[in-house]
Amino acid sequence: MIIVMKADTDANSDEVQRVVELAQRFPGVSTEIHQIQGATRVLTELYLLGSTGTIPTDPFEEFTCVEKVVRITEKFRSIGRHGGDLAAVGFEYNGIKISQDDFHLFPGLCAVDKREHVDTMFAALARHGIQTARAGAYKPRTSPYDFQGLEAECLPYVFELAGHHGIRIVSMEVTHESHLDQIQQALHECGHATGVMVQIGTRNAQNFELLKAVGQQDELPVLFKRGMGITLTESLNACEYVASGGNRRIVFCLRGMKTNFGDPHRNLVDFGHVSVIRRLTRLPVCVDPSHSVGSRSVSPDGLLDIFHATAQGVISGANAVLVDFHPHPEEALCDGPQALRLEELEHFIEDARVVREAYEKRLAIRPEG
Ligand code: PEP
Ligand code: MN
Repeated sequence: MIIVMKADTDANSDEVQRVVELAQRFPGVSTEIHQIQGATRVLTELYLLGSTGTIPTDPFEEFTCVEKVVRITEKFRSIGRHGGDLAAVGFEYNGIKISQDDFHLFPGLCAVDKREHVDTMFAALARHGIQTARAGAYKPRTSPYDFQGLEAECLPYVFELAGHHGIRIVSMEVTHESHLDQIQQALHECGHATGVMVQIGTRNAQNFELLKAVGQQDELPVLFKRGMGITLTESLNACEYVASGGNRRIVFCLRGMKTNFGDPHRNLVDFGHVSVIRRLTRLPVCVDPSHSVGSRSVSPDGLLDIFHATAQGVISGANAVLVDFHPHPEEALCDGPQALRLEELEHFIEDARVVREAYEKRLAIRPEG
């Protein structure tokens, strides 16, 4: 059972304390308080854990600080919407609001290879007013002989350049718990010139110890990528490991499913699930057209498959797009064949904007429900 407090209720107030005491009077029930810094307000929720099935809701509803009492109806206790009873609050990080109502592009390098490329990339984003980017330092590669990323060595210049070009969030994959410390230390040493959203890649979607580690810190938000060969329910349960650790600042990212049925794309594009994730969870949803499509193939209409896949996600209400760009894709040390060129950035941004507007128009013509 979750007791949602009214907006901006002080979690330390006497009244909230009395709600907690009442809950703890029921045998076998323990409580946990969670405060979520939402996009527009601080939300306080009291979780009642244990056998809560027979606990009545009315004694709690009588408190003036209580907005509502929600019975947990599904397994996704922390990320779930529980039949629509819980709002999708989103979060704000380093001055950027990310929620089911917002929309951001995260273009950038799949893997950082040179300082110069990072500089060129971030400068191009800055020219278009984009403050959110991707840049990979730790790369989980299929072969141990492939480039594994520059790791901690590149963090100082990536963060310094991000700060210089006004990039407020860099999405960056971590493949080991120790990478969190390295990122936090580098952010600290550059005076928090930028922020980092730590990415859990599809290959680590069920690395439960890593999920617990990113969930147990709350400095950095998390972009969780759906597992490429597991069911959606399994991915949502895995994501729940992050949230149940305490960190609720999570973005759920679709990136395609591994199956030959997706050929000739690298993965079967699964962006039809954008609306499903938005319905089942409180999380903002991201799509990654680059790792889904995996090539620069062009459709007869002159648009790249990556643009079309992006549009499929955005028209369904995706809140973020993670997309590979590279100033010289032929020199990229990872995923060059799917990287868009900087000359394509302006068209990509404009195309995504047109589709986002179309989504907003779709909302505007909805029948009153
Ligand atoms: C990436 O975004 O760089 C990446 C490796 O993606 P995925 O985990 O989806 O393969
Ligand atoms: Mn990649």
